[in-house]
Amino acid sequence: MKVKVVSKDDRSVKLDISETTPVFANSLRRVIMQKIPVLAIETVDFIDNTSALYDEVIAHRLGLIPISVDMKKYVTKDACKCKGKGCSSCQVKFVLSKKGPCVVYAKDMKSTDPGVKPFDGDVVIIKLLKGQAIDFEATAQVGTAEDHTKWQSAIVGYNYYPILKVDKKRIAEAKKCIAACPRKLITKDFKIKDPYMCHLCGSCSAACPDGVVTIDGDPSRIVFTLESVCGLRPEDIIRSSLGFLKSRIGELEEAFIKTAK
Ligand SMILES: [Zn+2]
Repeated sequence: MKVKVVSKDDRSVKLDISETTPVFANSLRRVIMQKIPVLAIETVDFIDNTSALYDEVIAHRLGLIPISVDMKKYVTKDACKCKGKGCSSCQVKFVLSKKGPCVVYAKDMKSTDPGVKPFDGDVVIIKLLKGQAIDFEATAQVGTAEDHTKWQSAIVGYNYYPILKVDKKRIAEAKKCIAACPRKLITKDFKIKDPYMCHLCGSCSAACPDGVVTIDGDPSRIVFTLESVCGLRPEDIIRSSLGFLKSRIGELEEAFIKTAK
């Protein structure tokens, strides 16, 4: 298996994985979507809320704010030494108190751990008018998307690498059809100039009947795209998902060895 990083920034990564199978890519995708522990606000105690929004609506918004955190410091409540009571190893408190008129941002929340803060401080929580106020204490805890999508680590998907084939005996017809590509990705000499932008929509082959131009995906070469929505870096999410897959295979190996004895 070979991996090439096509593009990468703080929030997303695109990988070109070759000599692989869709089964492997899909396993990785499912682990990333469901099994990666993430920190998100779970409960909110309102001391005051005279804003235009109900407590429940604000609590829902707070749960969806991505939080930056070093996940090595935190565990789920079930796995914690406090046995689910809640302590500094399994939860973080945020407090916020503001009076209008003002806009309340995610960065206005102060946490009990200075290393834990909203990934994007400029997320708007609410707008307060003159005379309105909000005051709450929120508790964030570790969870996975199996319980609620607010704990989903990333939006993740993949597609096959495109393979373009042209009938060389019918070049004149083929040249007319490449204009059908909505992204104008096919060059005059029938190359795909940015294969990672091709979504295999099939417009080029649909415009050219009888197989003059065909476009197919290569299932052994996969373009894997991940966008973090939880405040963790994309590379940490991939590392964590590979660790999970490895540990599950280890468990299977152990169980198999026991039974085979
Ligand atoms: Zn605890």
